[in-house]
Amino acid sequence: MARYTEAKCRLCRREGVKLFLKGPRCNTEKCSFVKRPYAPGFHGNKMQRRKPSYYAMQLREKQKAKRMYGVLEKQFRRFFSIAVRTKGATGGILIQLLERRLDNVIYRSLCAFSRYQARQTVGHGFVFVNSRRVNIPSYLVKLGDVIEIRGREEFKKTI
Ligand code: SF4
Repeated sequence: MARYTEAKCRLCRREGVKLFLKGPRCNTEKCSFVKRPYAPGFHGNKMQRRKPSYYAMQLREKQKAKRMYGVLEKQFRRFFSIAVRTKGATGGILIQLLERRLDNVIYRSLCAFSRYQARQTVGHGFVFVNSRRVNIPSYLVKLGDVIEIRGREEFKKTI
């Protein structure tokens, strides 16, 4: 179960937009992107931003999607290959797959401040889908699934 463990604010600064990876901190003046709105690294603030090539723009958009959803390259590629094989608009299906991830559903249900926190909630075994414990953050939720969180009995959500 690989996951990104380095500084998350670097990702926002690299992409040049706020990705809201840290929950409430992202909306305060402590946000690194507000304090240092340039690329990370020693030469980050010296780098001149040239007009990016078409390839560079596509690459940055892909990296943004990956980083927002907390997915690494291998899993993103797997989702993309599923989206390509499925009938319909590939981009839309790819986003559908990312949105159906269990950690994302927990985050969207406002039970976690960030997707990383939601991922930890799932990984630590607090989440039950259809009364069965699921500790795999990439589990794909289906229509009609009932999701419960241990310790938060008031939360019971049917998708
Ligand atoms: Fe990005 Fe949030 Fe860090 Fe700001 S605080 S740089 S929005 S992760």
